[in-house]
Amino acid sequence: MQNTSPKVGIVSLGCAKALVDSERIVTRLTAEGYEITGSYEGADVVIVNTCGFLDSARAESFEAIGEAMARNGRVIVTGCMGVDEFGIRDAHPNVLAVTGPHQYEAVVHAVHEAVPPAHDPFLDLVPPEGLHLTPRHYAFLKISEGCNNKCSFCIIPDLRGKLDSRPAGDVLGEAERLVSAGVKELLVISQDTSAYGLDLKYAKSEWRGQPVAARFLDLATALGELGAWVRMHYVYPYPHVDDVIPLMAEGKILPYLDIPFQHAHPDVLRAMKRPADQAKVLDRIAKWREICPDLAIRSTFIVGFPGETEEQFEYLLDWMEEAQIDRAGAFKYENVAGAPSRDLPDQVPEEVKEQRWQRLMETQMAISQERLATRIGRIIEVIVDEVDDEGAVARSKWDAPEVDGCVFIDSEDATKLQPGDIVRVEIDEADETDLWGTLVG
Ligand code: SF4
Repeated sequence: MQNTSPKVGIVSLGCAKALVDSERIVTRLTAEGYEITGSYEGADVVIVNTCGFLDSARAESFEAIGEAMARNGRVIVTGCMGVDEFGIRDAHPNVLAVTGPHQYEAVVHAVHEAVPPAHDPFLDLVPPEGLHLTPRHYAFLKISEGCNNKCSFCIIPDLRGKLDSRPAGDVLGEAERLVSAGVKELLVISQDTSAYGLDLKYAKSEWRGQPVAARFLDLATALGELGAWVRMHYVYPYPHVDDVIPLMAEGKILPYLDIPFQHAHPDVLRAMKRPADQAKVLDRIAKWREICPDLAIRSTFIVGFPGETEEQFEYLLDWMEEAQIDRAGAFKYENVAGAPSRDLPDQVPEEVKEQRWQRLMETQMAISQERLATRIGRIIEVIVDEVDDEGAVARSKWDAPEVDGCVFIDSEDATKLQPGDIVRVEIDEADETDLWGTLVG
């Protein structure tokens, strides 16, 4: 039988949160009988899910819209940049529709207008866990939208609104469906994971017949019962984060914290208007490692924030050495349109930002190399991401997909593994980002 389903192309830019939005749109459209395609040419309409966080991301989004217009011509724009409909229509007057972030209904409506569904939605089937754009063995679990903070360099609260947490029962129900569909690793994401539930006043909702509070610790505890790897992203070092470290030490959730510190110097943090008191963070990291020696900390930092002096930058480098941050990404400060920090005096010249970025990354690589070297000789569990003729590419519990390192298993027996398998390896080698290991029985 000839397949007559209307085809929708989707281009998903930006962060993991935007990817979850794309997944929701894809799930809904598939349920309605649309076919999702990876190419512009065969598509009846193309959705471009944009990112507008930094000016460089905006430029990339404009480029993606331009490419979709050139190669297809029937384009719906959604995502963070959608709040600037005027700017988009100015550059691309013929886009079919523009909608903002997490306006799933509006996107689906725009698709209906562009190309009506061919099937009765009630007759079409979609797996109950939804459709995911990430490999099947791991999935992002979005626990809230928006953010109540007002970091001076950030326009996310303007783009995505105030914190809007999902009830714990909903999050846990989705997590359970994902795990029963074969997902082995849940990546918990939001803008501010440790603030989860604040807006709901930590209200309880039902899961497995029991009330569960919408609270970071309660959610982490319940997720830890599902038998999957649970990885926490975008956690801020609020005091109550201390409470989840024992769960990591007990192996209930992964010994991994992704905390975007952004800086360490108190004056820079103050100018950034960062949430949480950073003063005692070093002591707290030391305590966390006492409780859970295997804890890996990932972070991101901004270099060249307006007014950042050489001394303040060096303070940050020293702090990183002392904190022994396992993994770090760095951004050169960008003067994002609409961000309050744009008006700050003493903007740092581009060449200084570039040079500080290089120095920070070099410092980080040296720390990372030293820390990874301590893993040599250990037998650890890894999750397999890919398999080819030479072996398997896997990840340890200390590594998140796409942003951290890999564990390479180059051997004949590893070619028989499947993505999603969790196996034991002995680590034989390390460099500044990756590990190499041998399968053990
Ligand atoms: S915590 Fe700060 S940087 Fe993160 S989304 Fe909220 S305002 Fe932006």
